[in-house]
Amino acid sequence: MNKIPVFNPNELNQTEQKTNLLGMSKDELGEFFKNLGEKPFRATQVMKWIYQFGVTDFYQMTNLSKKLQEKLDEVACVVPPAVKFKQFSEDGTRKWVFEVAGGSLVETVLIPAEDGKQFGRKTLCISSQVGCALDCSFCSTGKQGFERDLKASEIIGQLWVANQSYMENVPVTERENRVTNVVMMGMGEPLLNYEPVVASMGLMLDDFGFGLSKRRVTLSTSGIVPKMYDLAKDIDVALAISLHAPNDELRNELVPINKKYPLKDLIAAAKAYVYDENPRHKKHVTIEYVMLKDVNDSDEHAHQLVKLLKDLPSKINLIPFNPFPHAPYQRSSNNRIHAFSNILNNAGFVCTIRQTRGDDIDAACGQLVGQVADKTRRAKQWQQKIWQGKIEQQK
Ligand code: SF4
Repeated sequence: MNKIPVFNPNELNQTEQKTNLLGMSKDELGEFFKNLGEKPFRATQVMKWIYQFGVTDFYQMTNLSKKLQEKLDEVACVVPPAVKFKQFSEDGTRKWVFEVAGGSLVETVLIPAEDGKQFGRKTLCISSQVGCALDCSFCSTGKQGFERDLKASEIIGQLWVANQSYMENVPVTERENRVTNVVMMGMGEPLLNYEPVVASMGLMLDDFGFGLSKRRVTLSTSGIVPKMYDLAKDIDVALAISLHAPNDELRNELVPINKKYPLKDLIAAAKAYVYDENPRHKKHVTIEYVMLKDVNDSDEHAHQLVKLLKDLPSKINLIPFNPFPHAPYQRSSNNRIHAFSNILNNAGFVCTIRQTRGDDIDAACGQLVGQVADKTRRAKQWQQKIWQGKIEQQK
């Protein structure tokens, strides 16, 4: 499929000297308007225009006075990350490649439910960092190193752009957001970019933002244990764990952060998340397990997984591996994946096998490759920070 070059809003330099309102929380926006001498309720008015109607031009925000429109135009802007390319697959999958400040590229993928209904489920996989420092051995993103954290505007902007792609030529009053589910599962480890990620998820849930149900926003972590405890306190979203191995020896190899936060600590943090005293909180976690031929896919591994998860309410999602150039692994056979799945099902777990979608645009899981310029060797700096215990739980 041909890549389609698209308009790059950053070329206009409109962010210079102006405050980007995209990504600001309701409180931050309220403060912003207070500083302009306006009432804080302007925040919710403007949020509705930005997130529900996709309007970035203050002169189109018709319930603002002419004077306020002019003032906002002078000091503020609403600028999503610049789309470098977009690709739409035959099966409805959509992928965007964003160019973020510094020149690196990050990817976002939208996967529709298979029924193809116009207003059916559409899941957007959002990136939280440019690259990733955690270097999981099966992950193409991890192989590229780490450049920087994404800002809240760059995180929520991915959802904004995805929704906009369904709004072209739709009159403002008839616009409706189409993305129904978000998974923080793209490039990067979201819990290592904690504040912008939590702020963005707050906007996803906010009734004046995207108004998504808390069950439809999922954060996926490889297991940054102290931050999992923070997350339980700070926001109510679904949790997924990139597990990929049922014992420490194998997980140390596949997901090296396991050497810092081993399975015992990870499972304890997941249980604390599920059994949180807050009755509003979620009641299970999703376990992601990539199926690697002859590495982690034996019957013995499945039985170990059953034992490991026996006291943790969990749903297990088996992910057929998507090989990338020079990948040291192969995808498990379909028969092996089903045999593995049967053991989990027979032990009472809900176990699903992820369908590979969007293959024609490299949008299947594990194919968020981007291009990361790790010129400053920040991956190494992050790894040192993690190992020196500088990623701590907030008191
Ligand atoms: S699997 Fe996730 S945590 Fe591991 S390297 Fe890839 S992006 Fe980072």
